[in-house]
Amino acid sequence: SIKDYHKSSSSFFNREMQQRRDREKYIASRMKKALESGEFLVYYQPRVDIRTGEYISLEALARWQPPGEALIMPGEFIPLFEQNGFISELDMYVFEQVCREIQGWMRSGRKVYPVAVNLSRIHIREKHFLEHLESVCRKYGVPVDYIELELTESAFLDDPEVIMESAVKIKEKGFVLSMDDFGTGFSSLSMLKDIPVDIIKLDQSFFQKKMTEREKIIISYVIQMTRELQIEVVSEGIETEEHEQFLKEIGCDIAQGYLYARPAPLAVHEAKLWK
Ligand code: C2E
Ligand code: MG
Ligand code: MG
Ligand code: MG
Repeated sequence: SIKDYHKSSSSFFNREMQQRRDREKYIASRMKKALESGEFLVYYQPRVDIRTGEYISLEALARWQPPGEALIMPGEFIPLFEQNGFISELDMYVFEQVCREIQGWMRSGRKVYPVAVNLSRIHIREKHFLEHLESVCRKYGVPVDYIELELTESAFLDDPEVIMESAVKIKEKGFVLSMDDFGTGFSSLSMLKDIPVDIIKLDQSFFQKKMTEREKIIISYVIQMTRELQIEVVSEGIETEEHEQFLKEIGCDIAQGYLYARPAPLAVHEAKLWK
């Protein structure tokens, strides 16, 4: 009967909810030890100059590998860490690993690639976050302008004043500033007017399997505008030759996506980074 149906679907719902809560509790109970014991990994995804196919920089992306279990993706742990505040520690850990890596390249005389690190909206509200980042750079002898800090566009929406202030300070200190997931918020354009970003990352949602004419028009105008503002554009989520062809048509030279390389441990990219 319909009553049984409601009963069973609601118990199904409850079971799902319960499983989610259990999973979140499990993650929260393990995160600190996991960080200490090196279960968090830094994967890297190259950005490519589509005219030459060369890698020009890298983005650092966190992964969690509990021993003997499946790899856990940021989509599962980042929202949780943003709720319980652990995100700042994770961000700092990733940042430090990146600096250590760059120090290694410098010491061995290899070509040094700029690396982009994602910073959570929660993290950049902390009073001294920039001083902490700077001191890690100093510890490893890494010039701050080798590091790009990615803030998601939506972070500018929840707290425009605070984030704006952070953005200005990031630039003053000499880090490269980029706006991630550009085009997903509502005030993208008005923000460009006020925030001194160096790079915008066009969100991957623009590059669906089949792009509509309207999307193409919007993107080509964004590219034209940013060129005049001297802002660099990176297109994210490039998966097909058609996407690439379109980028060539509108003159967007820098892309990131599965078509070129997936996020992976640095060793996977080494042969191509240092030929
Ligand atoms: P994001 O910074 O926008 O990173 C791009 C995401 O798109 C990555 O997902 C990447 O693996 C994925 N991606 C790259 N190329 C393609 C493609 O061609 N197709 C598709 N479908 N996806 C592609 P990932 O690694 O799962 O990270 C998800 C988000 O988690 C990131 O989005 C970033 O916002 C956040 N995140 C990752 N690591 C960190 C971190 O260390 N700290 C903070 N605060 N956030 C992080
Ligand atoms: Mg990013
Ligand atoms: Mg993005
Ligand atoms: Mg994203």
